[in-house]
Amino acid sequence: MTTDTPVYAYSAVLMGSPILLKLFEHNEKLAGQVFRLIRQYENALTVNRDHSDIMAINHAAGHHPVSVSKSVFSLIQCAKAVSLLPDTLFNFTLGPVVKCWKIGFQGHRVPPADTLQARLSLCNPENVVLDEEAHSVFLTQSGMEIDLGAIAKGYIADRVQNFYASRAWRVPLLIWGNVQTLGASAGQERWAIGLKKPFAAPDELVGIIHVVNKSVVTSGVYERYFVLDGQCYHHIFDSKTGYPLNNELLSVTLISDRSIDGDIYTTLLYGMGVEKGMAYLAARPDIEAIFVTRDKQIICSSQRQFTFTLLDNSYRTVSY
Ligand code: ADP
Ligand code: MG
Repeated sequence: MTTDTPVYAYSAVLMGSPILLKLFEHNEKLAGQVFRLIRQYENALTVNRDHSDIMAINHAAGHHPVSVSKSVFSLIQCAKAVSLLPDTLFNFTLGPVVKCWKIGFQGHRVPPADTLQARLSLCNPENVVLDEEAHSVFLTQSGMEIDLGAIAKGYIADRVQNFYASRAWRVPLLIWGNVQTLGASAGQERWAIGLKKPFAAPDELVGIIHVVNKSVVTSGVYERYFVLDGQCYHHIFDSKTGYPLNNELLSVTLISDRSIDGDIYTTLLYGMGVEKGMAYLAARPDIEAIFVTRDKQIICSSQRQFTFTLLDNSYRTVSY
């Protein structure tokens, strides 16, 4: 990640992923404030601990509604809307399925088919009742669980952007797992972001993405997975079957203004595959994407908002 202006880097691990924060000035206090802000949202949204706003909702499933803060309520509203789009792969109530695979955690396994089927019956986003007045969320069936793992990082990254923008500071670069959120008020900083090579060492790159004032989010099947009997089981699930989604894709990268859109559309486009995904993007000039396929093709959308430079010649860029 580079820019023409000098930057100062700070690191932490939050929500199980390393974070690198780059500021345009040396200011540990400010970096500490940003990490505290992220931890505050992590405490509200995580499902990997027993207590959080989301866990309070999950614990009350089948019993009673739970009121949450306005910001958590809006995020849940957004997650529900995306989960109800026609043909969507996204489902924010997939918690029972995600928990049963334990991918990325100790004890991962391929669940028996009947267990998966039973869990899937608890994953209907229609059964999440939202009350806008009370900011309350009610999961109508006992055993239902919300999981915001696909969008929490992007959402929090946008909150960090707002934190800076509201104070009229130059917005920095935040690299968090696969979410890179970039200076939106820092003038014309041009950042170079590496696109990771699937299933290779973390510093091996397929290419470089250049952007100005954009968020870059990648969702890849190689981020969290296990291999059993030669089969790779990864952490992006087909919400219809409960199994990891297997299509021609290894990763989708989304270039957008807001990181939450990056998170939402990487999942949606992953589910659409290249052909439908490119057709969808043609009607959406506000977002752009880069697809990496299993047969080593790299397919970019229009490149109005970014440029891509190939570094690894075992891959080839293909126009569509
Ligand atoms: P990462 O955590 O590596 O950034 P993603 O942003 O792609 O990965 O999100 C993966 C996480 O999203 C999973 O760990 C799980 O919690 C959740 N998830 C998996 N499949 C789906 C799905 N079909 N719809 C919504 N959330 C999902
Ligand atoms: Mg995501």
